[in-house]
Amino acid sequence: MTISPEISERAAQLRDLINRYNFLYYSADDPEVTDAEYDRLFAELKKLEADYPELITADSPTQRVGSAPLDKFTQVTHAMPMLSLDNVFDEAELTAFNQRVLDRLNTDAVITYAAEPKLDGLAISIRYENGLLVQAATRGDGAVGEDVTENVRTIRNVPLKLHGKNVPQVVEIRGEIYMPKAGFEKLNQQRLANNEKLFVNPRNAAAGSLRQLDSSVTASRPLALFCYGLGELQGMERPSSHTEAMQIISEWGGAVSPDTKQLKGVDECLEYLHQLGERRASLSYDIDGVVFKVDDSRLQERLGFVSRAPRWAIAYKFPAQEESTQVVDIEVQV
Ligand code: NAD
Repeated sequence: MTISPEISERAAQLRDLINRYNFLYYSADDPEVTDAEYDRLFAELKKLEADYPELITADSPTQRVGSAPLDKFTQVTHAMPMLSLDNVFDEAELTAFNQRVLDRLNTDAVITYAAEPKLDGLAISIRYENGLLVQAATRGDGAVGEDVTENVRTIRNVPLKLHGKNVPQVVEIRGEIYMPKAGFEKLNQQRLANNEKLFVNPRNAAAGSLRQLDSSVTASRPLALFCYGLGELQGMERPSSHTEAMQIISEWGGAVSPDTKQLKGVDECLEYLHQLGERRASLSYDIDGVVFKVDDSRLQERLGFVSRAPRWAIAYKFPAQEESTQVVDIEVQV
């Protein structure tokens, strides 16, 4: 299909806009637009690229994760890349995801999924050697992140030492650093009283608090960790399922969500979605959706990855709560 100059121009414009918003969101912790607006632009670019694959460039945000790490932090090359997740926004898209999994595995068996709330914070990889925390890094662009070890050490529920008898030689625990809602509200009240710029939401507050050069600032912020995966692993066999991995992390002392659940097939996934959606407002932390992962590790391996996300997992995004709030509205009024 021939591509009109208007379409090429629109794709270039979307790439520039999204790259700029990525920098502001991931590197500067200072987003300029709502997540809903960002998601709309991203979906528009993905649609254009699906219709006209010649438009895909290596620097397209659809092919990459996050944004480059800032050079004010020491850089860490991840032993295993830290990927993003593909998103779906409604039940039909979730059902289509399940169908893609079945098609790729060439089966009509019922797939077992592990479901978890999608906490809205920022991804972290915490490396333990012989059970001791030796390094913590942000996701950065997925390949290279920022060394935030000293900051992560200040977070109360991050184990400095793993417990139990089966602690491997090397393990990277991956998870989300987040700020519970109550802590976020208190922090913004303090900032208002001090005429400081307010954080847009708990995700923005968590990212701004973790990516500090002075770890005493991080120590004063109410951050917490929720673990959802494993990176590099040496001296131990990889768990046979996501559910087993979560049990092991929990035995080591890592916090995993009490809402993690094993589900059979897409119908149970939809049911879980409804139940968690109803509890969303009453949870003590912000969630922006639910993550469904094919539970069996061998099936995960067979499904593999695309450029920026695994094919065995999907994030179902709830409608954005901040949709009607202009990001600029919450600047401190002086
Ligand atoms: P994402 O947040 O949609 O999904 C991937 C991330 O989810 C992972 O990296 C991990 O940090 C997190 N996560 C939470 N719970 C998880 C679990 N149980 N298992 C696995 N991962 C879990 O992807 P992203 O690439 O981090 O961010 C994209 C989103 O960020 C956009 O959809 C948009 O909403 C927002 N964004 C907003 C702006 C803006 O300017 N407002 C800019 C860039 C991105």
